[in-house]
Amino acid sequence: MRNRRAALAAIAGAASLALTLSACGQSSEGGSEENGDSAKGGTIGIAMPTKSSERWIADGNNVKKDLESKGYKTQLVYGEDDPDQQVSQVENLITQGVKALIIAAIDNKSMNNVLQQAKDANIPVISYDRLILGTKNVDYYASFDNEKVGELQGTYIVEKLGLKDGSKKGPFNIELFAGSNDDNNTRYFFQGAMNVLQPYIDKKQLVVRSGQTKLNQVTTLRWDGGTAQKRMDDILTSAYKRERVDAVLSPYDGISIGILSALKSDDYGSKSKPLPVVTGQDAELASVKSIIANQQSMTVYKDTRQLAKVASNMVDALLNDKKPEVNDTKTYDNGAKVVPAYLLEPVAVDKTNYQKEVVDSGYIKASDL
Ligand code: BGC
Repeated sequence: MRNRRAALAAIAGAASLALTLSACGQSSEGGSEENGDSAKGGTIGIAMPTKSSERWIADGNNVKKDLESKGYKTQLVYGEDDPDQQVSQVENLITQGVKALIIAAIDNKSMNNVLQQAKDANIPVISYDRLILGTKNVDYYASFDNEKVGELQGTYIVEKLGLKDGSKKGPFNIELFAGSNDDNNTRYFFQGAMNVLQPYIDKKQLVVRSGQTKLNQVTTLRWDGGTAQKRMDDILTSAYKRERVDAVLSPYDGISIGILSALKSDDYGSKSKPLPVVTGQDAELASVKSIIANQQSMTVYKDTRQLAKVASNMVDALLNDKKPEVNDTKTYDNGAKVVPAYLLEPVAVDKTNYQKEVVDSGYIKASDL
């Protein structure tokens, strides 16, 4: 461990604060005072963004399970999509003397002060799935190839509309949706999709009738399905009086479900008005069911069990003075440094391969479908 004496002093301070806090009724699960100097058996803090989406519930549980199987204790907290709440949760974890932090941030720029506290207490930080920006105090990043996620979505649309291979087909109408503007992944997903879609927009084989093509016009705060539904409603009313929308780029299953509700209220999905191609991400149960029912077209499956393993291995390596395994040291500049990353591969899933990818792999139980 780096600078062990400073760390011990900081942790001792944190431990006494933790005692004060628990006296005030705040929860503290095992403190550094019990664990002494040994990281093994110490508590790892896990801060997840929200329980409103299945994937984060699974992520939290998987990271917890993996760390516990390596002999650590865990403290798992969820921030209810409220950045301030998440920051104070992380502060509490530091105060409780956790040995390391795994954080999936709600607002990627809200963490600077609290991560300085982590640094001062010599607590290593793993940025989980979403890169934390603007601070040097992020040690490693565990995620997926986020640009590839967008490329898979864009490629799916192009293929389904038959635009590939120099075909002159079209024009087709498309609308674009992106994720939350405070999530660093959003621009990677959008960029990846636009790498594929933009040439067809330029050739007018794809037309965005709403005219909303810039990232700042198409984001969806906190990835909220209701917000996306309302935007799709508005677009259908204002830009699609007689015309039909043929494809919708959606970055996330919860947003796709909102978009599909708006479409169905406008009679899409009836015999005379087929549903457009609608993309997604996360292979959430509701969306895999929707894919099977020929509503949502595809999703991007990211095996979060693997991601949890990557993050837990990083923590375990760091706490044992080993170098965590990384496979990318260039892509993820957070504005203060390039954060070494391990990126996993996302997979496009539709009706043709969901069985193999998400059911046979045990990600979703057949009985739940
Ligand atoms: C994750 C996606 C997820 C989205 C909304 C992103 O940061 O990478 O997998 O769909 O957040 O929760």
